[in-house]
Amino acid sequence: MTALPIPIVALDVPGARDAMALVDRLAESCRFYKVGSELFAAEGPAVVRDLQRRGCDVFLDLKFHDIPNTVRGAVRSAAGIGAALVTVHASGGLAMLEAAVEGASAGGEGCGVLAVTVLTSLDAPALGSAWGRDDVDIATEVLRLAGLARRAGAHGVVCAGTEAAAVRAQHGTALAVLVPGIRLEGGTRDDQARVVTPAAAVAAGARYLVLGRVVTAAADPLVAMQQVATALQRPA
Ligand code: C5P
Repeated sequence: MTALPIPIVALDVPGARDAMALVDRLAESCRFYKVGSELFAAEGPAVVRDLQRRGCDVFLDLKFHDIPNTVRGAVRSAAGIGAALVTVHASGGLAMLEAAVEGASAGGEGCGVLAVTVLTSLDAPALGSAWGRDDVDIATEVLRLAGLARRAGAHGVVCAGTEAAAVRAQHGTALAVLVPGIRLEGGTRDDQARVVTPAAAVAAGARYLVLGRVVTAAADPLVAMQQVATALQRPA
């Protein structure tokens, strides 16, 4: 039987008050939260500590992308405040990814580095225009970047559900796969280009699922969370 992925709700809200209201509403249905740039820029490490005090794990999704020395320090700081997962952009290159992994072990125990491959908001024309190429194939780029992440000793990668199975086929359990861009059947894509249903992410072998607007923009986030949990049990 395929192991179900760990759901992580993205606290993409402007401040701690909104974030904690969501956490309280979701209660026992979610114990792992993503703190991204919007919330972290407003509240800093205090919001991470607040979540930890409530017994939750924190994925600090700040997607670092800088020179190796700067990224080493940034990841060391993230690990130091107790983040369980932290993201860096794989396109920062091998030396930067290795520095991130060093920073994670220097900052404390148990912080996993996830390398973002190709953002789920990009389709092939958008990626091609960013990179000045018209022949870009997203799956090829994701696999190339996942190879760098593995060489650097990263815990895993972030990719769309549309490429997750290919990453698992090439790397097995050596790389954990985190899939954002989750939508229920017939849901709106918003600004995402490569979305999948919860069941498709399970079938592709995702270890972690990031649940954003599918839960947080729902009229009742707890009901939406339960719908996702039900959908996870259904084969794709
Ligand atoms: O609301 P939605 O489900 O689109 O949110 C997805 C979340 O996952 C956002 O917080 C976004 O920052 C994050 N994410 C992503 N694509 C990546 C990495 C992270 O959408 N490649």
